[in-house]
Amino acid sequence: MNFEFQRHRVHDYQFLSKRWQNLARKARLKTLGYCTAEEFELFCFISPALTNAGGIYLSAGIHGDEPASTEGLFQWAELHCSILHEIPVMIFPCLNPWGLVHNRRTDSENRDLNRCYHLDTIQRINAQIELLRDRKFRLAMCLHEDYDAQGVYLYEIRKKLTTFGPELLAAAGYYVPIDPRQTIEGRRADQGWIARKINIKKFPVVAEAIYLASNHSERTITAETPSEYDLGPRIQAHVAMIQRAIELSFV
Ligand SMILES: [Zn+2]
Repeated sequence: MNFEFQRHRVHDYQFLSKRWQNLARKARLKTLGYCTAEEFELFCFISPALTNAGGIYLSAGIHGDEPASTEGLFQWAELHCSILHEIPVMIFPCLNPWGLVHNRRTDSENRDLNRCYHLDTIQRINAQIELLRDRKFRLAMCLHEDYDAQGVYLYEIRKKLTTFGPELLAAAGYYVPIDPRQTIEGRRADQGWIARKINIKKFPVVAEAIYLASNHSERTITAETPSEYDLGPRIQAHVAMIQRAIELSFV
């Protein structure tokens, strides 16, 4: 892969969306254009193997200045194109196309969409929530990047399950160093792993991962790569974490 070429195109939503639609056709995924936000159509891709319970939710790009997330998710899917119809996935490849195109965290109205899952006034979030109705996932992964990170790290919310976090970090650590800080974003971190418990009453402002953990997923991972690090390895770190999480989910 030519990373110079990639660097120029990772913010090109039309290019990303065209690649996803081609891949979905090849992989026999169902394509849902579920909302138009700003001038962009939002897509969801569903594997024929997905049933109402026990599947995998994957999303990227809710923050537009985190391009290794959207690109990593696409590259993971491309690598597994021939078997995607057997993996029960529901994929939201880019939740904030305007942000991706403009390299901005927020949408065009300066809203951080990842702080809006408690609202019922944002059409694209309402439409996404409608698609999730009655679905339960064994794993949800929300892919992010962090400008302040000193390496890769992740949050894991789980219900009485053994932990995946350190194994995902080990897979990512082959490409990007693990964040060594003991406190990350005000939370205690153990070699990049932040275990979170949720009490929805304590979250007046709801992030995507919290919404999923409260309503839909047994295990929820928010993966973060350091956005100041080289793009190619950051993309590979996301690919590695998705791959490892899916392997561990079906052991
Ligand atoms: Zn983010």
